[in-house]
Amino acid sequence: MKAALVLDTDNLNGDQWRGWACALCGARLYADRPLCKARDRSGELVQLWACAPACPSKPRGPSVPPQRY
Ligand SMILES: [Zn+2]
Repeated sequence: MKAALVLDTDNLNGDQWRGWACALCGARLYADRPLCKARDRSGELVQLWACAPACPSKPRGPSVPPQRY
């Protein structure tokens, strides 16, 4: 039986490994938090990052509400 993992690192893309995208939802990171460390295909221990404080429930759309004038 496979050991329980927080996330399936087999499905991470290059941006997620490099810390440019959230390792959980794949959104581009603006505010991030350290998620965990995982070994990539070459066996190197890599720090993975996730959205802070939490992943957006709606991945698409403006993250900042429109300003009132
Ligand atoms: Zn996320």
